[in-house]
Amino acid sequence: MSELSGKALRDAIEERDRLLTQWTRKYPRAAKDVVAALRKVRFFRGDPDEYTCTMCEEQAVEWVLTDITEVEGPAVLPYSDDVNAYEPLCTPHAIPVCEERLGALNAWRFDSATY
Ligand SMILES: [Zn+2]
Repeated sequence: MSELSGKALRDAIEERDRLLTQWTRKYPRAAKDVVAALRKVRFFRGDPDEYTCTMCEEQAVEWVLTDITEVEGPAVLPYSDDVNAYEPLCTPHAIPVCEERLGALNAWRFDSATY
């Protein structure tokens, strides 16, 4: 994974926000579950800035869901109920992971009615 910085990082953040907005509009109910799941991670594990990024020496800024598989087979999930499925990451490391997940979630017809 290449290191993101400067303009590339700003562009990546913008792209992530765009994908996030797109996904949130498509699945407002699931988006609420994502927020609730992140609140749960903060409750049990604390704020991400209390940690060092798991991929470098920087201070972490976000909790990021890094799992992409579930018991029933490969699936990209919007969130996890397992607080240990999240890793504290710095922005340059968090963005590509989030972007990949959001891209997959937007491409895949995610059925929020099952929640
Ligand atoms: Zn990092």
